[in-house]
Amino acid sequence: MNKRIYLSPPHMSGREQEFVQQVFASNWIAPLGPQVDAFEKEFCQVTGAKHALALSSGTAALHLALLLSDVNPEDEVIVSTLTFAASANPIVYVGARPVFIDSETASWNMDPALLADTLKRKAANGRLPKAIILVHLYGQSADIDPILALCQEYGITLIEDAAEALGAAYKGKSPGIFGKAGIFSFNGNKIITTSGGGMLISNDGDFIAHARKLATQARDPAPHYEHSEIGYNYRMSNVLAGIGRGQLFALADHVKSLRRNFDYYVEALGDLPGVQFMPEAPWGRHTRWLTTLTIDPQQAGVDRETVRLALEAQNIEARPVWKPMHLQPVFAGYEAVGGQVAEKLFADGLCLPSGSDLTEPELARVSNAVRTVFAQVQ
Ligand SMILES: *Cc1c(COP(=O)(O)O)cnc(C)c1O
Repeated sequence: MNKRIYLSPPHMSGREQEFVQQVFASNWIAPLGPQVDAFEKEFCQVTGAKHALALSSGTAALHLALLLSDVNPEDEVIVSTLTFAASANPIVYVGARPVFIDSETASWNMDPALLADTLKRKAANGRLPKAIILVHLYGQSADIDPILALCQEYGITLIEDAAEALGAAYKGKSPGIFGKAGIFSFNGNKIITTSGGGMLISNDGDFIAHARKLATQARDPAPHYEHSEIGYNYRMSNVLAGIGRGQLFALADHVKSLRRNFDYYVEALGDLPGVQFMPEAPWGRHTRWLTTLTIDPQQAGVDRETVRLALEAQNIEARPVWKPMHLQPVFAGYEAVGGQVAEKLFADGLCLPSGSDLTEPELARVSNAVRTVFAQVQ
């Protein structure tokens, strides 16, 4: 059997162990510590954020962002429907209700026009959502400006889920820094990884200070243990922050490699009937964290699932595009606005292997496997 090609495996830069060694040399094997402080500082330099808080996951970062945005039980929070469940789950953690909004076709992210309609309708009914979780999917920023303008007009907090978009640009700046808060993930499959971890960023120092307190069991300043609010154990380990620092050095190289993967696939597969690659919207720079395409079964003569299974038979991991949240059994009964764009992207969309360490022979193996399926039906 051929060696397995994974969708998005971890890719170490070589410098991670240097920082992890420092951790062991100082015996600072604990949550918090000098590596965490340095990682937060360096993350601010990379993204342009003023303040950052390293956490145990991106999901924890979103949970804290909602807790600090005055989202209460029975409040509504708007979120993109085309995303991973971790974008929406924290809304339910705080007892609020998600409202799912469909994608536009230029970036596959939240449709600002649909959002405008929705807010207008909700304002007329006298019941506005407390927050919007705006997802930047697959390495590409949503169209932030019109969404930020709507948030300002209606007094709604903008939280950016940039878990998949570290290294991307919106009008020259990092997504995640435009809203009240931005979150990132360092899960094993993301553009950089600490094996598991996340970051909360904000330009508001008080916001991050409060999040830092909540993430550290909400200890009040006192020599004994004093608590005046409910806390969480969400901080990042000093060991993992060492890995994160090593990974940050490789971020620019990873983006280069991911964009090279995309160019290779476009060159190798772009002429196939019914195949369309995820567009790069004019407002920014796509990292191509995952190379994603759609296959129109009418034109192609094969559907996405046939292609995925043919790749799997060659020991190549590919995945369908995210199944929209409004189609998930766990979110049945919550409001959804539109949904047809996301449904079509889910039906036809496929993510190809996109590791930043993919070799040319591996890219060729994936492309040939796809071409073989098309050749059999043409
Ligand atoms: C990965 C991911 C998350 C969650 O991050 P974790 O670190 O795995 O908790 C949230 N939102 C999106 C869009 C993601 O892809």
